[in-house]
Parts: sequence; C-alpha cells; structure tokens
Amino acid sequence: MSTATTENRSFEADVSRLLHMMVHSVYSDRDVFLRELISNAADACEKLRYEAIATPALIENGGKPAITIAADPEAGTLSISDNGIGMSRDEMIEALGTIARSGTRAFMEQVEAAKGKEGAQLIGQFGVGFYSSFMVASEVDVVSRRAGSDEAWRWISDGKGEFSVSPAALDDAPGRGTRVTLKLLEDAKTYAERWTLERIVKAQSGHVPVPIALVEKPG
Ligand code: ADP
Ligand code: MG
Repeated sequence: MSTATTENRSFEADVSRLLHMMVHSVYSDRDVFLRELISNAADACEKLRYEAIATPALIENGGKPAITIAADPEAGTLSISDNGIGMSRDEMIEALGTIARSGTRAFMEQVEAAKGKEGAQLIGQFGVGFYSSFMVASEVDVVSRRAGSDEAWRWISDGKGEFSVSPAALDDAPGRGTRVTLKLLEDAKTYAERWTLERIVKAQSGHVPVPIALVEKPG
C-alpha cells in the first residue's frame, strides 16, 4: 500500500448510514456540531497531557493546551484547531471512517425511535460527534500531526460515502495536533459569524477545561 499519494476509501457501511441520518433527520439543533468538535479538541489535549506523563518530550514544543476557532465569513469556512495529541495516518483512517464506533448502531436505533426530534441531544451521548460536522458542512478537511511525529496527514470528505487521505505539507499543518476545517453549507453560513459562534460556545462549551480563542480571518 502506497502512503505517498492520495488514497480514496469508502466509509464503513454503518458510518455511511449514520452520515445519511445525520444529514437527513438530526437537523433540529445543528448548533451541537460545534460542541462536539470542541469536545474532541479538548479530549485530544487531555490525551496529550496523559501520554506526556510517560513521554515528557511530547510537550516540549507546542505550548499550553489551546483550542482556536477561526471563522472566515467571506470564504464561508470555519476551522477548529487544537494542539493536542493529533492523529497518525492510521489513527485518522480508523477514527474517522472505518471502525464503526460502538455507539453507532445504538444511536441510529434511538434516532429512528425518536423520529429525529431528539437526535441532536443523542449525538454526544453515543460517541458519534465528529460526523455531526456534516450537518453544516459540504466538505470537511482534517489536517493532523501527531505529537512527536514529523509527518502530517490530511483527511477530506463530503460525507457521501468516501473519504481521502493524503500526506499534508508541514507548513500547512498544525505544529502539533489537529485542524478541522468546514466548508459551510449555503444555509449554514451563520456558523462563520462571530456572534453566532460566541453564543454557541458560551451556551454549550462553558465548562471545557482548555482555553478557547475565537479569531476572525480578514475577509
Ligand atoms: P468520540 O469523541 O466519542 O470518540 P467522535 O465521533 O467525536 O467520537 O470522534 C471520533 C474519534 O476521532 C475520537 O475518538 C478520536 O480518536 C478522533 N478525533 C476526532 N477529533 C480529534 C482531534 N481533534 N484530535 C485527535 N483525535 C480526534
Ligand atoms: Mg467526540
């Protein structure tokens, strides 16, 4: 298997079903996608802190744990970055596409039973949070560099059955950790606006133990 070029892969069957469901029946409260991405970023910082107990070199460079939300209203994009543990190529493929998460089936059954009404609240509960990005994005681009690694990898998908994984240039990757960039859907452009983001972060992520900075890119 070549790791030097772009590789296209199919989502595991349950993941495809889950994505379809996310987009078509869980839309009652789309704000939750941000809470889920922030929670993943905070988890990544916590994992790094834990791994650094045994391997202090992992946190020698890269600064204190931090989460940055960068919005570009002109481009209609939103990115959530962290300087946490990051993902290797194989971790990306497993975590974001191939290994069905234990909660996936249970989640889908509950959503079907709830007829979409409570789907948004179920997302975090069942550990399927990353995929909620596709409620607001036509494309999700993840660039990650695992702590201690000199490689960075990019995962891209439109959530319609396939994803690609390719090497990322180091100067286009976080020094350590992960950047998730969403190309917002036409009807979700409000998520690139500062006041919307501030409102959601305040309402849903007040107890996150990692500082969250909100920056607006010049349009
Ligand atoms: P959960 O957080 O409950 O495991 P998610 O769907 O939110 O489920 O995320 C799936 C997995 O993807 C995580 O368990 C983690 O391995 C990986 N992941 C997602 N976001 C990040 C991130 N910012 N940094 C590192 N790993 C991540
Ligand atoms: Mg999560």
